[in-house]
Amino acid sequence: MRKKYAAGNWKMNKTFEEGQILLSEVVNMVGDELTNPNVQVVLGVPFPYLSSFSKLINTPKVALAAQNCHPKPSGAYTGEVSVSMLKSVGVTYVIIGHSERREYFGESDAFIAEKVDAILAEGLTPIFCCGETLSQREAGIHFDFVSGQLTNGLFHLSADAIKKVVIAYEPIWAIGTGVTASSAQAQEMHKVLRDHLASKYGQEVADEISILYGGSVGAGNAVELFSQPDVDGGLVGGASLKSRDFTDISKSFP
Ligand code: 13P
Repeated sequence: MRKKYAAGNWKMNKTFEEGQILLSEVVNMVGDELTNPNVQVVLGVPFPYLSSFSKLINTPKVALAAQNCHPKPSGAYTGEVSVSMLKSVGVTYVIIGHSERREYFGESDAFIAEKVDAILAEGLTPIFCCGETLSQREAGIHFDFVSGQLTNGLFHLSADAIKKVVIAYEPIWAIGTGVTASSAQAQEMHKVLRDHLASKYGQEVADEISILYGGSVGAGNAVELFSQPDVDGGLVGGASLKSRDFTDISKSFP
């Protein structure tokens, strides 16, 4: 069975002290309440908190993610953080290709593909984000566009390597807007993406890859979204900043 994920993306929120409180609440609640052994909770927290947070997490149910990385192993890249640095402080997942980074920081498919390679080379797990704008959806090009993001960002990988990637489909029009894709819209896109993976790597490989949905996931809609056959969990922004809501989301799998 594919692994299921409740992944939080805190983005640029919470001071260190606030973050410590939120982290300890989530770790305690998830530790006490999450009984499904196939669900992995992942917390994508700001860079400066990763090192100390990794020492505070006392359960394998919760893993740490960085929200970005640089693909080069080291060197003169002022302000950047390499994957080996993340690994050295206990990080095991890295969110890459988020639409906010693509849009505000001009990240290209090719640059994101380099990050995928760097993350896999260090034995960490990339959470590869993709998703269309509202105008692309209205123009009816959303399936082709998002499939293209997978082709450009991931299809250079071997079958063994792509099985180690987690994909997060996040329609940009649903991020932070309170407008969630309907469960039918999410399922439809996830199926298109899984079929696209199968066309390149075969069905068996495609069936092993977890595809998460992101965009206004909350405690009120997670059960419905996660009940879809090709939706393997969520990448959660706003609701990951509330320990009760986020823990409830982690318990929303069938
Ligand atoms: P929201 O859950 O706040 O819509 O954010 C989604 C997201 O961008 C997660 O990466």
